[in-house]
Amino acid sequence: MQIENFIDGKFTTPRNGTYLDNYNPATGEVITKIPNSDNEDVELAVKAAQKALPSWADLPRIKRVEWLRKIAKALELRKDDIAMTESMDTGKPISLAKRVDASRSIANFEFFAEHAEKLVDEEYEMADATNYVIRKPVGVVGLITPWNLPLYLLTWKIAPALVMGNTIVAKPSELTPLTANLLCEVLTSIQFPSGVINVIHGLGPSAGQAILEHPQIKAISFTGGTSTGKIVAQTAAPMFKKLSLELGGKNATIILDDADLPTAAKGAARAAFTNSGQVCLCGSRILIDSKIYDEFMPLLIKEVKAMKVGNPAKENTDIGSVISHTHMEKVLSYVDLAKQEGGKIATGGGRIILPKPNSNGAFIEPTIVEGLSIDSRCATEEIFGPVASVHQFTSDDEAVRMANITEYGLAGSVWTSDLTRGKSLAEKIESGILWVNTWLHRDLRTPFGGVKNSGVGREGGDWSLNFFSELTNVCVKDE
Ligand code: NDP
Repeated sequence: MQIENFIDGKFTTPRNGTYLDNYNPATGEVITKIPNSDNEDVELAVKAAQKALPSWADLPRIKRVEWLRKIAKALELRKDDIAMTESMDTGKPISLAKRVDASRSIANFEFFAEHAEKLVDEEYEMADATNYVIRKPVGVVGLITPWNLPLYLLTWKIAPALVMGNTIVAKPSELTPLTANLLCEVLTSIQFPSGVINVIHGLGPSAGQAILEHPQIKAISFTGGTSTGKIVAQTAAPMFKKLSLELGGKNATIILDDADLPTAAKGAARAAFTNSGQVCLCGSRILIDSKIYDEFMPLLIKEVKAMKVGNPAKENTDIGSVISHTHMEKVLSYVDLAKQEGGKIATGGGRIILPKPNSNGAFIEPTIVEGLSIDSRCATEEIFGPVASVHQFTSDDEAVRMANITEYGLAGSVWTSDLTRGKSLAEKIESGILWVNTWLHRDLRTPFGGVKNSGVGREGGDWSLNFFSELTNVCVKDE
């Protein structure tokens, strides 16, 4: 199988004629060839997006809302395909791909259709004048997304960009290009206007960098690692592009002594190991009140041991492979480092070799490390795999200090039976998103994003619509 770029409504071979191998990480097999695009392909995509911009931007918003709904409907028809493709491309369990990736990719279009439909244009009366705010699209926008939630994160950007009248040049991760390609097939099937969405496949430093550098791309919405985020900012900021950066995390799950411990153990295990720990919001540091540490740890380990690592194609698999063999080596090197740093493996700790067809898959046991210092490398650097460390605290203030010790500030959760205490603690944590007694419980209207090195700006609801709009205030003096 070979996929192509999607430019001006047509599947298009890369100008340089070269392709990259795309692997299924759960089997180690090559499943597709994908274009190894460069700046010439990006140039063509930008030209197509510029050509499509005036007529797309001039459509009444309600017509664009209708297009979003048409895309959602057409994606719904291919929901099983999305889940299967995503599972094969990422190694994640099919059940997770159905429940999270496929559902949310469709919901993103439905949500932004409804949200934009309800958008009320702002007006401010003065004693002698009226201000009204009009929204124009930013123009051609660049969307760059990672491999952990491929279509979910791509559509989270595409839907608001579209509905606000922008045209798009998108680059998914070269590790997970297949559902972006599926979306392009869906666009073709509904005769979506050509050139409004263009998808370029290829490597970050070539295809991605060309998007960042292109002078006609007026905004960049980027989700990915913090070190790549620095490159994005360094390239795009001096060109005064609008920038949204959703970056890495090293989130704390805090278990207070008054928590319902079995529920908290389930929650902490799910927060640490969903998608093999490859969700930016994963709670990879579990901070436990020392008063309940000895009671809590066996419950946590029991939950983790009950997670079935297996063939992602099987419905009863809880944990699939990690994204690649290279990433597996990186994650396992952190397990080695944890031991050197004085950590003790409480459960897991190694690669798992499964039977065929997964004998060459990149599977790692869900791993918990005890006894690490809170400022050790393993407890402060983003591992982005199925490895979590546990730490004890003796007061709520100490829990807050520990939670805030890293360079990151994306998310976190607090588990307690006292909501006042939980809220008070949550509010002191330097993060964009906090949960009390739950995790990954999302209302798409709420602001989503990080503080510190976890990002700049917010997405979600009005924040996404504002990012993808240029606001102009017109002040009219009364007669
Ligand atoms: P990367 O930063 O490696 O890549 C993200 C995207 O950027 C990919 O499409 C990549 O392409 C591209 N890219 C890489 N280099 C450049 C460049 N020089 N110019 C332009 N684009 C470039 O992240 P990962 O894909 O490894 O994803 C994991 C990271 O994403 C984790 O740190 C995680 O925390 C973060 N993340 C953050 C989220 C949030 O909402 N805050 C949500 C999900 C993930 P290619 O893959 O081809 O190299």
